[in-house]
Amino acid sequence: MKKLIIIKYGELTTKKENINQFIRCLNENIKSKLSNFNIVTNYDKGRLFIKSLDDNYDEIMNKLKEIFGIHEIIIGYEIATLDLAEIENILLNLLKKENFQSFKVDTKRSNKKINLTSIEINKEIGSFILKNVLNTKVDVHNPDLIVHLELRNNESYIYFTSIKGLGGYPVGTLGKGILMLSGGIDSPVAGYLAMKRGVKIEALYFESPPHTSEEAKDKVEALARILSKYNGSLKLHVIHFTEIQEAIYKNIPHEYLITIMRRMMYRIAEIICARENAKVIINGESIGQVASQTLTSMRAINEVVKLPVIRPVACFDKLEIIDIAKKIATYETSILPYEDCCTIFVPEHPIINPNMKKCEEYEKLIPYKDLIYQAIKNHEVIKITPNKKNDYEDIL
Ligand code: ATP
Ligand code: MG
Repeated sequence: MKKLIIIKYGELTTKKENINQFIRCLNENIKSKLSNFNIVTNYDKGRLFIKSLDDNYDEIMNKLKEIFGIHEIIIGYEIATLDLAEIENILLNLLKKENFQSFKVDTKRSNKKINLTSIEINKEIGSFILKNVLNTKVDVHNPDLIVHLELRNNESYIYFTSIKGLGGYPVGTLGKGILMLSGGIDSPVAGYLAMKRGVKIEALYFESPPHTSEEAKDKVEALARILSKYNGSLKLHVIHFTEIQEAIYKNIPHEYLITIMRRMMYRIAEIICARENAKVIINGESIGQVASQTLTSMRAINEVVKLPVIRPVACFDKLEIIDIAKKIATYETSILPYEDCCTIFVPEHPIINPNMKKCEEYEKLIPYKDLIYQAIKNHEVIKITPNKKNDYEDIL
């Protein structure tokens, strides 16, 4: 008998055509997440198995809780036989460590060559337990213990409990997106939700020194680091936005500052997508939250790009977004007080219903193509990994 972890895929099994690619990607993501552990994985269409050579299953479980595409995580036992008498003997030993007054048996039999049906096996194992374990009874509705038995090709598996995984699709199976990551509450949550649907992300941050501080950038790095737990290592693109922002501030009517600034951000995001082979832009816009997020504003801003813009929190209330931010532990970092480049140049009366023709007219007042070209040329890339090893790691 061998202890091991059994992974159930959940939603993946509904994607019949892509399932092999999905499971292969999940296996790679698991191996990369557990690269410091001495493990072996193998899988088929129904289950993925992880054996640890060092028996540190609790630590491994904690890491697996950060991987999308996993529906259930189970610590179980593999027995190299399908023979019920042998299984029963081993089961009896395992049951000695369990404390229960009622139980039921739940058998799954993917090997259809076995003569007995699942229900017949439940009955057989059930009466064996009743005969050999004192003071217990069968309770199919609310048992203290469920004895799960899975009979597969040449092996069987026993387990008693499972914990829920994160669900979703393995990160990377749906391609790549560029997440506009500010230091706020919304955009890290947007990134998390996009990763949950299988999108691998790279982050894009616009900084405006000296109007924004080094601390504001550190904060974005810290947020990117939290997101990298789910993404695998993550590229953070930092765009020096000062010249563009100052040109807008000096030359364009102030009620249009935010609208035009965001059009510039979108243009740059689309160029980064093209360079990084990403299919979509992702951001933390939420309908109605601020002037630049009315439907008319969104349309005027969106107009400058062709790529789809995914807004995972578009229809969430702020409180719902905060709940997720707390759950994924970005909230505490997001509420640190450093200035964002948008907050510094906020006009007193930003326009709620910008006119697209006017946007185009005003943009002619600044050499924005040259400015964007320069910004892209000078942009900085920081490699973010889940655990910072030392202060210089990012530039090594
Ligand atoms: P957040 O809480 O994510 O900062 P917000 O409610 O403050 O969002 P805005 O400042 O209007 O909203 O920004 C909307 C979205 O635009 C952000 O969620 C983010 O995706 C993107 N964004 C804003 N500022 C920046 C920035 N400096 N760098 C990168 N992306 C940004
Ligand atoms: Mg913000």
